[in-house]
Amino acid sequence: MGKKYVYVWNKNRVEGNSKMKDILGGKGANLAEMASLGLPVPPGFTISTEVCKYYWDNGRKFPEDLKSIVEEAMTELENVTGKKFGDNKNPLLVSVRSGAAVSMPGMMDTILNLGLNDESVEGLAKLTNNERFAWDSYRRFIQMFGDVALGIDHEKFEEALNEVKREKGVKQDLELDANDLKKVVELYKKLYKEEGKEFPQDPMKQLWIAIEAVFGSWNNPRAIKYRQINEMDKQGLLGTAVNVVAMVFGNMGEDSGTGVAFTRDPNTGEKKYYGEFLTNAQGEDVVAGIRTPKSLDELKSINPKTYNQLLELMDKLEKHFRDMQDIEFTVEKGQLYMLQTRNGKRTAAAAVKIAVDMVKEGLINKEEAVMRVKPADIEKLLHPLFDPEELKNAQYIGKGLPASPGAATGKIVFSADDAEKLAKDGEKVILARPETSPEDVGGMNVAEGILTSRGGMTSHAAVVARGMGKTAVVGAEDIVIDLKNKVIKSNGVELKEGDWISIDGNEGKVYAGKIKTVRPEGLAGDISELLEYADEVSVLGVRANADIPRDAKVAREFGAQGIGLCRTEHMFFGPERINKMRTMIVSKTEEQRKAALEELLPFQRSDFKGLFEEMEGFSVTIRLLDPPLHEFVPESDEQIKEVAEMIGISEDELRSTVKDLEEFNPMMGHRGVRLAITYPEIAEMQTKAIILAAIDMIKEGKRVQPEIMIPLVGNVKELTILKESIKQIADELIKENNVDLEYKIGTMIEVPRACVVADQIGAEADFFSFGTNDLTQLGLGFSRDDYGKFIGDYIEKGIYEKDPFQQIDREGVGRLIKLALDGGRSTNPKLKVGICGEHGGDPDSIEFAHLVGLDYVSCSPYRVPVARLAAAQAAVNYKRGKTVNY
Ligand code: ADP
Ligand code: MG
Ligand code: MG
Repeated sequence: MGKKYVYVWNKNRVEGNSKMKDILGGKGANLAEMASLGLPVPPGFTISTEVCKYYWDNGRKFPEDLKSIVEEAMTELENVTGKKFGDNKNPLLVSVRSGAAVSMPGMMDTILNLGLNDESVEGLAKLTNNERFAWDSYRRFIQMFGDVALGIDHEKFEEALNEVKREKGVKQDLELDANDLKKVVELYKKLYKEEGKEFPQDPMKQLWIAIEAVFGSWNNPRAIKYRQINEMDKQGLLGTAVNVVAMVFGNMGEDSGTGVAFTRDPNTGEKKYYGEFLTNAQGEDVVAGIRTPKSLDELKSINPKTYNQLLELMDKLEKHFRDMQDIEFTVEKGQLYMLQTRNGKRTAAAAVKIAVDMVKEGLINKEEAVMRVKPADIEKLLHPLFDPEELKNAQYIGKGLPASPGAATGKIVFSADDAEKLAKDGEKVILARPETSPEDVGGMNVAEGILTSRGGMTSHAAVVARGMGKTAVVGAEDIVIDLKNKVIKSNGVELKEGDWISIDGNEGKVYAGKIKTVRPEGLAGDISELLEYADEVSVLGVRANADIPRDAKVAREFGAQGIGLCRTEHMFFGPERINKMRTMIVSKTEEQRKAALEELLPFQRSDFKGLFEEMEGFSVTIRLLDPPLHEFVPESDEQIKEVAEMIGISEDELRSTVKDLEEFNPMMGHRGVRLAITYPEIAEMQTKAIILAAIDMIKEGKRVQPEIMIPLVGNVKELTILKESIKQIADELIKENNVDLEYKIGTMIEVPRACVVADQIGAEADFFSFGTNDLTQLGLGFSRDDYGKFIGDYIEKGIYEKDPFQQIDREGVGRLIKLALDGGRSTNPKLKVGICGEHGGDPDSIEFAHLVGLDYVSCSPYRVPVARLAAAQAAVNYKRGKTVNY
């Protein structure tokens, strides 16, 4: 028994539904669903994605029985519409539409009005008593068929159309009458000839060529590129489906039209209907920016009944799909038809608002809400705005539609290719085009932002930019983007290729020159609400890496539950401290060193106190001095002089001491716990500072949970030696001060040996914190400072899928983590375990952390919101059955 290849929907029966996206594609599945719901959908059928797969797997051949199955479906379509395919008097016309399981806007192709030929166009004119309509439909069909199915450049059709318009002295397509359109058809046919192509008069032939063209478009270069950019190749897509749908006509006059609508505002997320509409138009006219579309409100005044029906259906669809819907509709002589519905693409801000609103409306639960927003969306929302100070003096040159929010500044380029070239060299670019088309997607992807002079809020540039989270200003009509001379002209200002330009996607404003961008502060209402849901859903805690009170404050505002890593070395660079630190380092005797440390102690004590205060009630993990000492040594002659004076040695003697500190391979040199083994007094001073600061807190009646972390441990004895001295100092201070203070002592796990002997280390430690940067460096043997030279080749060749310093290499480093976790917990079931490397802010690595069973991740303060969401999503995915897959 073969597979089922074709699924029909019509008033008598519906074979598909919205759950069948894999084989019907999103468009086909939802058309079937709408038909089931009783919505006015023109009848049709879907040829499944499995046929597409078959086609490509079998040297571009179709299954043998497909032909007869499609013919049967066409017969059924004739029966339900009462029209005949290829008939000269009452022809059935269809659209042939692509549609994969995952939406790829504008990537593949659709042909409308298929079935017309030289004879039936006359029949259609008579039947409808509307000659203009018939010829308009015919010229559109010839154009789309030539472009989509036969690969004739669509610009050439535009030229032919423009020629007729010029001759007549008109600007708009609408101003052409039936006779003009006949001329257009003649010119189009001439064009076919010139291109050596044939326009088939036989509708069945037309249909098969069109079907094949749609399946063929699955692997056209721009579709392939789109799937690459959006990382769709791993989703196991079979291909595109082909939908054959009976035509309904928006181009039958002023009581007809076509439009797109969203059930909520896709930019802000506001719960209000949003859409654009064109009378006497067909298909993509709205999106293509041929005329400036009208707002939905205008439909209300033109045809209130249709308008109300549309709103009713939109409500119904949103409730049914429980998400914001993006729909396409056509009105044929006052009669409304629904042609597509899908979950609408939205800006990051809208995603958050819609998710939160829908929870409040009772439409979805909190778990669903957190799954509706991408971690990257949250990041975008915390991303740039123009610096208000610089904006004051910026040179404003024009305004367009604020199509996709954010602020972007870059050098002007006029083609997608140039954008890609310059971006490769690390340049920031703004892609400026009169309008964009799917060929430009690669360039759009690498640009900081996109500026167009034509098109509306649903134009290609706008839709794609929103999807990518790129700043975009579109339809800036007073700005002339001159591709030929590569200049932008506006308001008397002329900008050349390579000049800086800045665009504001929130306001739609465009400025000449470079403007600094800044991040917004804090979390606005909806985001913080969504992240509260996230915290309810997640299991993994999120802490921040913060070294100074200011960072700790930001982290706390962003919802961090403690500090997972305070790098104490960052505290030694302040002007009053660095020389004391230098003195300590180059000290010849323990006494000298102790004296210098004694002077550093009060600084450290107050630093720690500041952190404890900002994080009151939460754990604060403080790492003992980690980097090689030579990072602190005096370098310039002036510094040498100062320090030499301070410790009373000659400059030359100091120079030679400094030289002695140099190492061949400092990352594996005298650093981390090794420093404390050689110079215990450093760790002693830091312990004192930590404990005294904590005691200060307690004496002020504040809560404090200090955790002392020892870096780079590879051997349990390192830990036991340090632990003994830390305990001795700490307990003595606590006793002296007669306070009740609990503190913890733990280790970083970043040396592969530590993972192997984690059972021994776990028995001695209160916590482990994976320093995934070093663990990756040492685990892979990739120097963090040098891997840039070859990682590109590694990723290109698929050896590593992603940069292992950004996303945990689950297979290798991940297994080391698992080994350490199991080892540590085997001897210490209460062991607390987290990650504090860069990976702590990476959603994929956060998911790994959850799946493997860690307690928390710690990341930079600005990534905390992203991490909170990612942690919640990991918890939901785990509930839904996801496990670590090494
Ligand atoms: P895309 O995937 O690019 O949106 P579609 O297949 O949805 O392409 O079709 C392109 C345009 O043609 C849309 O505006 C759609 O509403 C319109 N269209 C498609 N099929 C029909 C039809 N049977 N009757 C009228 N308009 C149609
Ligand atoms: Mg569509
Ligand atoms: Mg480290």
